[in-house]
Amino acid sequence: AKAAGGGVFTSYRGQMREGLVERLELENDLRAALENRELRLHYQPTVDLDTNQVVGFEALVRWPHPTRGMINPMDFIPIAEATGLIVPLGRWVLEEACRQSVEWTAAAGGRPLKMSVNVSVRQFDQPDFAETVAAVLVETGMPADRLCLEMTESVLMTDTEANLEQLVRLKALGLTLAIDDFGTGYSSLAYLRRFPVDTLKIDRSFVERLGVLAGDTALTDTIVRLGKSLGMATVAEGIEEFGQLAALREMGCGFAQGYYFSRPVPPDEAGRLFIEGADTPVRT
Ligand code: C2E
Ligand code: CA
Ligand code: CA
Ligand code: CA
Repeated sequence: AKAAGGGVFTSYRGQMREGLVERLELENDLRAALENRELRLHYQPTVDLDTNQVVGFEALVRWPHPTRGMINPMDFIPIAEATGLIVPLGRWVLEEACRQSVEWTAAAGGRPLKMSVNVSVRQFDQPDFAETVAAVLVETGMPADRLCLEMTESVLMTDTEANLEQLVRLKALGLTLAIDDFGTGYSSLAYLRRFPVDTLKIDRSFVERLGVLAGDTALTDTIVRLGKSLGMATVAEGIEEFGQLAALREMGCGFAQGYYFSRPVPPDEAGRLFIEGADTPVRT
């Protein structure tokens, strides 16, 4: 039914209400999409810079909405976080990524692959998060050491005692932990020593400016060295150009991701990349 006074949405309050309605609608749709298993994962390859081979993937969630088209995670992850839907959503992502990983490894004659999954603070803060991860590993038959959980620096910075315990519980399962978007948060070098982290993912904003400003090259170089000296693996995100790759290789960065190699792709394509690509290096 048409509301009295059709111009209601042209007023400021109307626009606010429209925003709220839209948000509620999106929230309901997201809940339904999750229940109806309509979410999808795309996979972006991780390339080993020593061998130029695809050694793993990062799972990235996608929402093909029936009327709005493909919705970007940046547009629904915050809603999922605000409503708590991120907890069941995150569990689904973890389960699906592990299931898929086990399937690809079997299809590639047992060749291992590292699967990285993004974990939001809200999930990490669940007291039973480590048990959930353990249950998913058992259910899917995924070897723990082939799973990497990516978390932003904020996870490591807040409420450190509880977080440290949670990280220790996760590490005890045998998986690896990565700091996502490294260098963009409130970085304290002290926490790197304190927390059992295996991998630094160098944020795209550093990679983007490689070769443009000398200062940025120095920063990236410093992060790579820092990772090395702490015995951590370094993964550079968002490589789009050969020059960036060459610079990172020169610095001794171990792994890379980015459109230069491949965009995040649907499962079929990712599977082909991994299974058929065993002896074929990706673009170098
Ligand atoms: P992120 O974890 O930092 O993921 C990397 C993002 O950069 C992805 O965007 C990816 O498509 C994009 N990207 C990769 N290579 C390039 C490149 O060469 N150039 C450019 N310009 N972009 C590149 P996407 O898939 O839209 O995801 C955005 C963010 O949404 C992710 O950032 C992550 O924070 C969040 N996200 C995605 N999937 C999940 C999930 O399953 N759970 C949670 N909690 N968050 C997720
Ligand atoms: Ca990530
Ligand atoms: Ca990232
Ligand atoms: Ca990011």
